[in-house]
Amino acid sequence: MTKAISILGCTGSIGRQTAAVAEHLGLRVAALSAQRKIDLLEEQTRKFRPSFVAVYDEEAAKRFKIAVADLDVRVGMGLEGLIEAASLEESDCVVTAVSGAIGLKPTLEAIARKKRIALANKETLVCAGRLVMAAAKDCGAEIVPVDSEHSAIFQCLMGREKGELKKILLTGSGGPFRGRPRAELENVTPAQAVSHPNWSMGAKISVDSATMMNKGLEFIEAMHLFSVTPDDIQVVIHPQSIIHSMVELVDGTVIAQLGVADMGLPIQLALTYPQRCESMFEHLDFYHLKDLSFEAPDYEKTPCLKLAMDCARAGGIAPCVMSAANEVAVHMFLRGSLGYNRIYDAAAAAVDHFGNVKDPDLETILAADKAARDFVTENFS
Ligand code: MG
Repeated sequence: MTKAISILGCTGSIGRQTAAVAEHLGLRVAALSAQRKIDLLEEQTRKFRPSFVAVYDEEAAKRFKIAVADLDVRVGMGLEGLIEAASLEESDCVVTAVSGAIGLKPTLEAIARKKRIALANKETLVCAGRLVMAAAKDCGAEIVPVDSEHSAIFQCLMGREKGELKKILLTGSGGPFRGRPRAELENVTPAQAVSHPNWSMGAKISVDSATMMNKGLEFIEAMHLFSVTPDDIQVVIHPQSIIHSMVELVDGTVIAQLGVADMGLPIQLALTYPQRCESMFEHLDFYHLKDLSFEAPDYEKTPCLKLAMDCARAGGIAPCVMSAANEVAVHMFLRGSLGYNRIYDAAAAAVDHFGNVKDPDLETILAADKAARDFVTENFS
């Protein structure tokens, strides 16, 4: 079991929940990193007394340094700081909860040092799944998923041979607009898009859940994480989010993982695996569970999901371009400068605009990420 952790992105939704789980488990929090929310970061620093804290934004880092001048803590900044937080000697597990491709280099650095990666940064596998999984294999570093679906699949596959797996059944709630045609969603507001029926999450991922881009990103992640092809994954809409995903075995048996919809559970397992510990979360009460229902996705109503699945098949830089373009478009939507349906338009246009590159290296991936962001900023604002 993990003894000391670094939390990259500690002020975000997953980061805050990781801090709470670490406290519950009595784990040492050796390093923290945040972009610029230094008030919360200071609170966490005073509580956990990490040896190192990274603040991505330079100005915020300077202010933070002054705020914690009375503490025995080293402060770093920028990407360098983030990499140092990820590679800190003291930590044996790195929780990657930063958002965006910025998480890539720190994750690779932690892998090179054989640390367990509690993976919560989607872009790591979406953009560079092939590179990251190969590096983990070469270095003997464990990658334990934090995303609830991947944690479920990971648990369903525990102790099984690769040859036993027929397909992965990736479940998704369908989000707040399930079944609504695209034309009706033209004037959706950010507040409507972020109100997810089952999960409490950050704003960006909540919008991705509404467009179902999130399920598409998870589709790509699952391919890499479990070394399967797109044909081995079936997306199943399950509005109640009680089953967090399933695997079908060659004999027709289906193994599902169920639990309350609380991200704390997969976070805790990623830290304690292969052990399990008492958690502070509610348990399922089957006497009070209502119906569990299932349906096929409607790709016409969720073009983002279709786009992501197409990019998964295309491989190369396509998933990275799509994900980066989507991220910029979602932030524009959240700021009120882009319509809801234009999020898909922006992601699809970026994928169309950039030619694909087979087997890209890290620099090519990071360049594609930046180019896709610039493309959306220039053409959609
Ligand atoms: Mg998920």
